[in-house]
Amino acid sequence: MKKVIFLLLDGARFDILDELLGSNSLPNLSSIIKSGSYTKAVSVFPSTTGPAYVPFLMGQYPGNVNLPGIRWLDKVNFSKNPFSTNANRSYVGYENKFFNDDIKKSFKTIFNYLPNSVSIFNEITSGLNARNDLTSNSKIFYKLLSHFFGSSLIDKIAFKKLINSFDNKKQFYFCCLYGIDSLSHIQGSDTESIKQLYKSFDNNLGKLRNFLEDKSTYEDTLIIITSDHGHSNTSEHFDLVEYLKSKNKSIFYYPLTFKKLYKKFDSSVMVSGNSMAHIYLNSNFNWSKPFSFSQHEELINDLISQDAVDIISYKNPKGDIIILSSRGKSLISDKESSIYYQPLENDPFDYSISEGLYDENQLLDLTYETNYPDAIIQLLQIFRSKRCGDLVLSANPGWDFRKKFELPLHKSSHGSLRKEHMIVPLILNKKINNIPKIRTVDIYNTMLEFLGIKSLNAIEGKKLDIY
Ligand SMILES: [Zn+2]
Repeated sequence: MKKVIFLLLDGARFDILDELLGSNSLPNLSSIIKSGSYTKAVSVFPSTTGPAYVPFLMGQYPGNVNLPGIRWLDKVNFSKNPFSTNANRSYVGYENKFFNDDIKKSFKTIFNYLPNSVSIFNEITSGLNARNDLTSNSKIFYKLLSHFFGSSLIDKIAFKKLINSFDNKKQFYFCCLYGIDSLSHIQGSDTESIKQLYKSFDNNLGKLRNFLEDKSTYEDTLIIITSDHGHSNTSEHFDLVEYLKSKNKSIFYYPLTFKKLYKKFDSSVMVSGNSMAHIYLNSNFNWSKPFSFSQHEELINDLISQDAVDIISYKNPKGDIIILSSRGKSLISDKESSIYYQPLENDPFDYSISEGLYDENQLLDLTYETNYPDAIIQLLQIFRSKRCGDLVLSANPGWDFRKKFELPLHKSSHGSLRKEHMIVPLILNKKINNIPKIRTVDIYNTMLEFLGIKSLNAIEGKKLDIY
């Protein structure tokens, strides 16, 4: 029986993995690559844990399933009743329990097809038999331990659970390894102790391979090793909440959400990763009116002049997306069968793309090797979510958007549109024919095909031709 084992090295950097492979420090991974494949893939925006798992488990972009970040505000629900459980969210904390309920139900997860799968330290578990969520009770404890102390215990437990869960009837195993991401935030993402975690992973991978070979199932198993986002070191923190306070804004933000008991707000900041943020704005404290650029023009112009802010995007009244950076301004328009891109003043991404209509693959080709791989498609998809901010911000390298309430203070961040966060490694134990330019959303389709499953809803991404 064919099986897929998905090992998600949360926050693994493509460049560090590549350097360690180059110095022969990852012998088991090298051996898998020899008879398999090694390439890179483009993740999704926001490039952060949770939303960036959606492509792997659902074959969708996070915006399609209404999950535009790890924190969000729903302006419509907030305007009706700020105390509604669907008005605002942070998955960092007790509201994490709403994760599966928040995802649009019209899309299936792979667990809907294979409920007898195994899930380890993963939040998207819709469709899975409850007993197969092997860390449903312990994940909060181990994630907090890892978040605050950088404990690598979480990865040891994950591998142990993976091997113990193995049985011939289970076809899909989704195992998340958080050690690298947690320690990267605490230490910076390129320290010797972080590199040691890549080596420990390699060691565990060797044990897993031996185990599968002993069971004579290695050849029938597709092993996928990838990441949901990269990381880059952060030395400066531009606290968006403090900034908006200095502009006399009344701001709704985590963790001080209890203030809604006695206060009205004219703005909200919801940070993910911490190098991206949604800013929600209103006029005269009324959340039900649509966003208007002209009412906030001064603020937006001031924001784009800040060293921390790289890209700002927003929707104009026609529904087109406007992108601003210190380098220029452009427009994206979704024409359903194609995408119209128009540089208005130079190009905010420094792309050399001329005005015109393009399809998704052309835009991936044209942007793949730039500092902002796939940013046009990624902005289109995030704005599909009704929980998306009026302004979507992406930080400059070295910066993030959260300081006051971030414990421990981040020394490395992710979430932005930059290549350091969007490019992830992809390793399979099978070969890929004519390796194309790959998005992480292509992996889902490839897994379904390998397992002989036909999707019941439209999915994003192409099938990789593996053999
Ligand atoms: Zn992280």
